[in-house]
Amino acid sequence: DDDQQILEGFEEAESFAELDFVPPVVAVVGRPNVGKSTLVNRIIGRRQAVVEDVPGVTRDRVFYEAEWNGRPFTVADTGGWEYGVKGLAGKVAEQAERAVQRADAVLFVVDATVGITATDEAIVTMLRKANKPITLVANKADGQSHEADAAMLWGLGFGYPWPVSALHGRGTADLLDALLEELPEESAYKDVLTARGPRRVALVGRPNVGKSSLLNSLAGSARAVVDDTAGTTRDPVDELIELDGDIWEFIDTAGIRRRQHMASGSDYYASLRTRAALERAEVAVVLLEASQPLSEQDVRIIQIVLDTGRALVLAFNKWDLLDEDRRLDLEREVDLDLQHVSWAPRINISAKTGWHKNRLVPALETSLDSWETRIPTGKLNSFIGELVAAHPHPVRGGKQPRILFATQSSTRPPKFVLFTTGFLDPGYRRFIINRLRQYFGFEGSPIELTMRVRE
Ligand code: GDP
Ligand code: GDP
Repeated sequence: DDDQQILEGFEEAESFAELDFVPPVVAVVGRPNVGKSTLVNRIIGRRQAVVEDVPGVTRDRVFYEAEWNGRPFTVADTGGWEYGVKGLAGKVAEQAERAVQRADAVLFVVDATVGITATDEAIVTMLRKANKPITLVANKADGQSHEADAAMLWGLGFGYPWPVSALHGRGTADLLDALLEELPEESAYKDVLTARGPRRVALVGRPNVGKSSLLNSLAGSARAVVDDTAGTTRDPVDELIELDGDIWEFIDTAGIRRRQHMASGSDYYASLRTRAALERAEVAVVLLEASQPLSEQDVRIIQIVLDTGRALVLAFNKWDLLDEDRRLDLEREVDLDLQHVSWAPRINISAKTGWHKNRLVPALETSLDSWETRIPTGKLNSFIGELVAAHPHPVRGGKQPRILFATQSSTRPPKFVLFTTGFLDPGYRRFIINRLRQYFGFEGSPIELTMRVRE
């Protein structure tokens, strides 16, 4: 059915697997030969989306990943047609309608040199009922002389007919700017497009810190969830545990329980294993031993979490062993050595007695929420605008780099892109990151800020 087709289409867009959110979908519709495929190639910036004209076979939608000004979106190409089939107009409109139903916005492509045909009319009628944002493309406007042809299309009532030459690239930048204004940040059809399983957690930390004790404590008090797909005799690598009514997937529990890290005693293998677990997790709980001084290995493990860009929770275990002196030392160590992760939620627990283990889930949820936060572009830019007005970048060699535009290019973790007129000082970038955190929170998530300098 439709939803299944959409899911299959999405599998073709490989790098979207990295995204947690579903970018908005733009359906490119129009009758055969108006230049849809040429336009799609132009938008996605490569030449692969060439139509395979298999006679008698209609291709359904194919999805392509696209990006404009740092914003990801998906282009749904409605495919090719066998020419001369009976009732083509109706079929084209039907196929276009299917694509439009699941799209957040529509690019309606018309051949400006030909004008409106009966097949175009069928699509126009369908689009008028669709109630979707429509951007009208007057394609094949290869030169100035075609502007008048394009203007004739005003009469369709879909707003300004953007004169474009998909073949030569003329007018496509303006077209995409206009399209993005119509696009929401995320697809409204994400429920159809994503079927996310349980949240994936990695418990990491140096040997003997209490990972397996914590796991046993969590699994023991909760109903162990049996994974149907796993064989009964097989030792599951990951374990599904229900906590507070939700199922969580704990990564590499087999490794934790078997204490494989002890077998070699090697920090190198332990860190490989940690890294492998993190790759498959969404959020990391770094266990630290509250009763012992922080070690280099602890700091290294936290660094691995940061490198992999996962959400983070710090859990100080063995709190039952603490005395007052150690408690004061610990706070000093945290201030000094863990200052770079002061944004991470911290819980003090005892895996042995179960003390405070109910604090784990709220901390995981906080970090995951931050990790998936998307700041709308408008809100982000007004924040940056006010920030820069109050604290302008220092003048360097008579020049002062300006920030033209900011956008959040992805989540999991949140990444921000600043379009600037020059390089920003590292100190100024850190200042912006700090203010982003102050203003928007991001508790428990790393955030990244990059620049794109425009001359
Ligand atoms: P589709 O059937 O709507 O996907 O159309 P295609 O992308 O396959 O293009 C149909 C024909 O129109 C091809 O021969 C293209 O090279 C040509 N074409 C597409 N865009 C333009 C354009 O902007 N200007 C000109 N002159 N030809 C174009
Ligand atoms: P792992 O190597 O990180 O999996 O650590 P384990 O869970 O095997 O724990 C190592 C040792 O620390 C065991 O002897 C545990 O009983 C002990 N331990 C774990 N958590 C606590 C705790 O909260 N308090 C105390 N006192 N001991 C603990």
